[in-house]
Amino acid sequence: MKKQIGVIGGGAAGMMAAITAAREGARVTIFERNDRVGKKILQTGNGKCNLGNRALSVECYHGTDLQWIGKALERFDTEDTIRFFQSIGLMIKEKNGYLYPVCEQAAAVLDVLRYELQALDVEIVFARKIIKVERMDSGKLLVSDGEKEWLLDAVIVTCGGKAAPATGSDGSGFKIAKRLGHTCTLTVPALVQLRCQETDLLKGIAGVRADSEIRILCDGEEVCRERGELQLTDYGISGIPVFQLSRSVNYRLRERRECVAQIDFLPELSEEEYRKLQESRKLLQGDRTAEEFFTGILHKKLTSTLLKLAGIRLATPMREIPEEKIRNFYGLCRNFRLHITESNPYENAQVSAGGVAVTEVKETMESMRCPGVYFAGEILDVDGRCGGYNLQWAWSSGYLAGYHAAQ
Ligand SMILES: Cc1cc2nc3c(=O)[nH]c(=O)nc-3n(C[C@H](O)[C@H](O)[C@H](O)COP(=O)(O)OP(=O)(O)OC[C@H]3O[C@@H](n4cnc5c(N)ncnc54)[C@H](O)[C@@H]3O)c2cc1C
Repeated sequence: MKKQIGVIGGGAAGMMAAITAAREGARVTIFERNDRVGKKILQTGNGKCNLGNRALSVECYHGTDLQWIGKALERFDTEDTIRFFQSIGLMIKEKNGYLYPVCEQAAAVLDVLRYELQALDVEIVFARKIIKVERMDSGKLLVSDGEKEWLLDAVIVTCGGKAAPATGSDGSGFKIAKRLGHTCTLTVPALVQLRCQETDLLKGIAGVRADSEIRILCDGEEVCRERGELQLTDYGISGIPVFQLSRSVNYRLRERRECVAQIDFLPELSEEEYRKLQESRKLLQGDRTAEEFFTGILHKKLTSTLLKLAGIRLATPMREIPEEKIRNFYGLCRNFRLHITESNPYENAQVSAGGVAVTEVKETMESMRCPGVYFAGEILDVDGRCGGYNLQWAWSSGYLAGYHAAQ
């Protein structure tokens, strides 16, 4: 008799778990609430699917137990991911360590997974939203959608978190986990845009992109920083560095702490280089107006806004501008502050931070609360940086759950 395994959720982690368990000889059924599997995969990497990263390290992850996360990643790492996808026919290429399918189509990643599920005879039950998993006295696990029930030997819960709920992950997996006696840590949107108070000012600079260093000051103290291409929008800030900072900001905002983004628009210059630049520019002064004089340092829209903030009118001749206002402008180029009010909602987030506490999950991904139940993917209290780390987590944890559930 083959071991009967149910996988709840046909996302990245669920498909990996199902394929692995089936390869280990189990009879696998995926329960997917949508009418197709892998909806989220199609959106990843702007439709190109950044499915992993050569620079895999536990430092690219967040969660309450980094050691636990690190051990799982060691058991199924980037090389294993490459080998796995090659084994199902996907050609992979690398750009600065970031892994993509050669064809740059996320649909190809989903297709090879679907074809492998088919080849392994994995059954997929579509349009069934599971609401309950329960252990019976017999040791079997009962899975129910409120209408129909299934009895299984093991169940792998891979419902995802709360991000991008239109793809199917609306947090219902947390309810299943809680009913099984699991603790779920507070979830917040992560890898998401941040909204700021200064919307009037932002309207003038929306659309500007600038290589910047962004520091987050929480109640006046720096808590984290990132460098990269900042995108200014009419409601706040976006871009990869903002995405990376967003989970940390969101947790602090939940504690009702004040969060300020302090932006350096000239991060490549040391203080000394910046002082010299200011000195050397004095030679340009002549009869120039402020607008003419300050052209060529920052994006035009940004210069106008920062001059206004420094109390300098664009048409004023430089010789009439007090030294203090000029210093103000130069200061703003390096320390421009925006007060963060909130992030965009889960609808805009790539992942959710928080989830099923890993202290209650074994290294095999089996629940410590309910034997025979396994967890994998974003449902767990694990979230990664941008760069393929979240899908890597789905592959690693999905593999481990599938392998151990099938034993
Ligand atoms: C726009 C976007 C871009 C991204 N780009 C990248 C990227 O390039 N690289 C990267 O590494 N990561 C990226 N991510 C993150 C990554 O896609 C996710 O972390 C990963 O897909 C999570 O996989 P998962 O299987 O755990 O959950 P999901 O992919 O969310 O899958 C969960 C599945 O479970 C189903 N489900 C949920 N609840 C139930 C239920 N009660 N019953 C039945 N079925 C249920 C859902 O319908 C869904 O199919 C991106 C995310 C988004 C939104």
